[in-house]
Amino acid sequence: MAEIVIVGAGPAGIAAAGLLAGHGRSVTLIDEGLQAGGQGYRRPAPGLALDMPALMGSEAARYRSLHARFSALRPRLDYRPGTLVWAVEGRTLHLLSAGVATTLPFEVLILATGAMDRVAPFPGWAKPGVFTLGGAQVALKDQGCLIGRRVAFLGSSPLLGLAAQQYRKLGGEVAVIADTTPFRRKFSALPGLLRSPRTLLRGASYLGGALLAGVPLLQGVTPLAAEGGEHVEGLLLRDGRGRERRYACDAIALGYGLKPETQLAELAGAALIFDEDYRLWLPQADAEGRAAPGLYLAGDGMTIGGADAAEASGTVVAAAVLADLGETVLASEVAASHRRLHRLRRFQKSLAAAFAWPVAQIRALPDEVLLCRCENVSLGEVRAAMARELGPAEVNRVKAITRCGMGRCQGRVCGPALQEIVAGAADLPGAAAGRLRAQAPVKPVALSAAGEAP
Ligand SMILES: Cc1cc2nc3c(=O)[nH]c(=O)nc-3n(C[C@H](O)[C@H](O)[C@H](O)COP(=O)(O)OP(=O)(O)OC[C@H]3O[C@@H](n4cnc5c(N)ncnc54)[C@H](O)[C@@H]3O)c2cc1C
Repeated sequence: MAEIVIVGAGPAGIAAAGLLAGHGRSVTLIDEGLQAGGQGYRRPAPGLALDMPALMGSEAARYRSLHARFSALRPRLDYRPGTLVWAVEGRTLHLLSAGVATTLPFEVLILATGAMDRVAPFPGWAKPGVFTLGGAQVALKDQGCLIGRRVAFLGSSPLLGLAAQQYRKLGGEVAVIADTTPFRRKFSALPGLLRSPRTLLRGASYLGGALLAGVPLLQGVTPLAAEGGEHVEGLLLRDGRGRERRYACDAIALGYGLKPETQLAELAGAALIFDEDYRLWLPQADAEGRAAPGLYLAGDGMTIGGADAAEASGTVVAAAVLADLGETVLASEVAASHRRLHRLRRFQKSLAAAFAWPVAQIRALPDEVLLCRCENVSLGEVRAAMARELGPAEVNRVKAITRCGMGRCQGRVCGPALQEIVAGAADLPGAAAGRLRAQAPVKPVALSAAGEAP
């Protein structure tokens, strides 16, 4: 029987594993996290008494349902938590678990690797106290910790309101929710957002709750500085009417939506294409997640869709795997998931318009702003390298010359902003600025893995 391996035990990976196991297939499910659930439905660390259903609010039923389904499924899987897949070479995965490096062959690989925060730099963003929005949520859900007593939520993302609500529930104070996208853009995206009224209402309820609690809600802001000495003490911004405003806070949660974790997909042979709506490089796959022979992509790791879409895509992809292995899958098993996936992915495109990646703001940032935190490279250094005679006008060349994107995160954090800076400075369309190529290890690994290097 074909060796089927799924990477990622979030909603997409669990749904895929469920359908495959239901058809009698043996499945290996790998996740670097110690507990299943993925990012959105993350469980608290063992022993931590955190009332997750209360924290999840309207998502509590789905949270419970996913974890209940996983508990029932687990005995039928070769489930490997705490295991990082750090490389793909041909039909072999390179794994690292508890410091021990191993390899795992596969015939069918489903990548359900989810997403990470997309961040845009602004003056002072490398100061202690500035966290990614997702990092702020992980601290809360995994450890029951707040990133600060008084937190400013900054960026452009539907998750700003959600995270702010979760912080308020656990006793945190919210200084401001500041969105860089102007309200008129949200209004224009409204017809598309009505494709998922439930999600729209949920988003509105987060912001409504904040408003009732007296939290300032701003749209169309320009971040000016994370202020403070050794640590964040305030957020300075320009509001939509051009007035400067200062909010005292001891932490800033920064997020511009999510970007798919595509490195393994790229190493496994998926083609990537620049999507102008998201302004992200996305792996290419057909409507059922086929990206290359034996390679399937599901969930947010393919394109951002949220937890419901991830779950639906897991089912759709598993059905495609079964069909490709010659098994009959009843239309009734997947028809609803197909419909849901199609609707939610279209909804997500409208969300991308309502919570826009701030291209113009990034390109207008001053030279002294730090772009690459790992290698300490400023925007000015990138621009200066490009301005030299025969200077580079492509992100990988810029990386080679400036070291921007060459550090621990391998450009996973600075990559999207670098893309805009290079495209802006060279006056090129986004795609023409190129894409930082993925290479193993896809995340930092211990030296013990070096002997297994592909
Ligand atoms: C930090 C964060 C917080 C979020 N919080 C919310 C929220 O509160 N509410 C909400 O609606 N949405 C939230 N989201 C959005 C979330 O991405 C989706 O709603 C949903 O979780 C997507 O499901 P998925 O199965 O595609 O991926 P995920 O749920 O992200 O699961 C992917 C899994 O793959 C694993 N993985 C990735 N790479 C590797 C590797 N190389 N080796 C081994 N394992 C790997 C990860 O550990 C993860 O468990 C959040 C996203 C992020 C990044």
